[in-house]
Amino acid sequence: MNSRVADVKPENFLGGGYNGTINISGGYIENYQLGGYYYAVYYGNNGGSIVLDGVNVNGNTLIGQQSNTACYFNGQIRIGPDFTNFGFSDLMHEYGHYLQSQSMNGVAYFFGAVGSALSVNDPNHLDKSFEQQASLLGGIYADTYYND
Ligand SMILES: [Zn+2]
Repeated sequence: MNSRVADVKPENFLGGGYNGTINISGGYIENYQLGGYYYAVYYGNNGGSIVLDGVNVNGNTLIGQQSNTACYFNGQIRIGPDFTNFGFSDLMHEYGHYLQSQSMNGVAYFFGAVGSALSVNDPNHLDKSFEQQASLLGGIYADTYYND
């Protein structure tokens, strides 16, 4: 298994809206920055962990984002404060959107949302096949890199 453990201490925790630690259902996330490179690590309550290369996780919503939704935008996974049951599979779905964005070569990229907001009422909810692909990519990443 190509597991990667967070064996690097944070050079500095990000201040402001990034927050160092984001608690979610089943575990928590720490944000890290090494030089100009961002990554986050999920630590499950069961002792497992996984590195999320290239993103930080933010507990604040974007302007216009409902507080009970999550989304990925521009290197950040945003988890609204009222998305109380946001868990690991949701995290990996959002990370799947990051993985999608990597093949879109700088195109401004927004995908929302998961959980209760995944409805036809969400104008930002794009093509369903993209949502399924996000879950697939996130799941493959988790299967490959989750360290338990
Ligand atoms: Zn999505």
